[in-house]
Amino acid sequence: MTLGLDPVEPPASLSPSSISSFKECPLAFRFSYLDRLPQPPAPHSSKGTLVHRALERFYDRPADERTAAALDRDLDDARADLRDDPDFTGLDLTDAEWDAFHADARALAHRTFALEDPATVVPVGLELKLQASLGDVTVRGVIDRLERTPEGDLVVSDYKTGRVPGDRYVEKSLAGVQMYALMCERLFGTVPARIQLLYLSRPTAIVATPSAQQLTGVARRTTAIWNTIATACERNEFRTNPGRLCDFCAYRPYCPAHGGDPQRADELRDLLAGPATRVGTAPPVSDPED
Ligand code: SF4
Repeated sequence: MTLGLDPVEPPASLSPSSISSFKECPLAFRFSYLDRLPQPPAPHSSKGTLVHRALERFYDRPADERTAAALDRDLDDARADLRDDPDFTGLDLTDAEWDAFHADARALAHRTFALEDPATVVPVGLELKLQASLGDVTVRGVIDRLERTPEGDLVVSDYKTGRVPGDRYVEKSLAGVQMYALMCERLFGTVPARIQLLYLSRPTAIVATPSAQQLTGVARRTTAIWNTIATACERNEFRTNPGRLCDFCAYRPYCPAHGGDPQRADELRDLLAGPATRVGTAPPVSDPED
């Protein structure tokens, strides 16, 4: 079923978030990653952006300067960096809500001290943009922190500001960092010794040791999903996948699974035009608790 939408070309590349989006809901993936329809900003994702920016500044400091007071200064500087960003200017918050937003961001960022001794971290890349080729597929992504152990091995770390996943979802939650490990293997010729999700909400670290065999499986699954996306584009068929994530989906008013008309989704470009507009490059469907 084409839903009356115009044909689209497959994306130039895939990322962990675009793969996750397609798996969650092909139609939402199409709206966000192929049609690039804008979405209104959401406080939970903007808060995550602020915390990531502050931690990038923090771990860029010499090891002996990574103190709590320095992290507060980095949060202030990150706020200044993002002051004019549409993901922040577009948030409709009261003064009290902004106060809570910043208090929460500070609490999240400071939990890095509960997870690790920041002075022992040896970063070799912060917010590191990578792109690698897997045969016909180009994959790309941004590693929050790539570091070296004292033994010289690589470690991939990913900060998380949402809820810690339950046991059943741990493997799924590691999919993004497994992809980053695969990219490291392709680009640097070495499999990282460790991949880790650093949850700042509780705080909790989910740590895994990737193997060459596992990364072969990641490459195979990525190629398979690329083929599925290419077929969806060729046939112009993007199915819906109604579920609990619909509650957080910016495209719900245009979703046929909820009585909407997908052909009208383009009006989002006008409705969300202006300085408070974000074009859909982020995952369109994200549970704020994830
Ligand atoms: S509302 Fe649900 S089914 Fe519809 S596009 Fe969004 S995530 Fe997909």
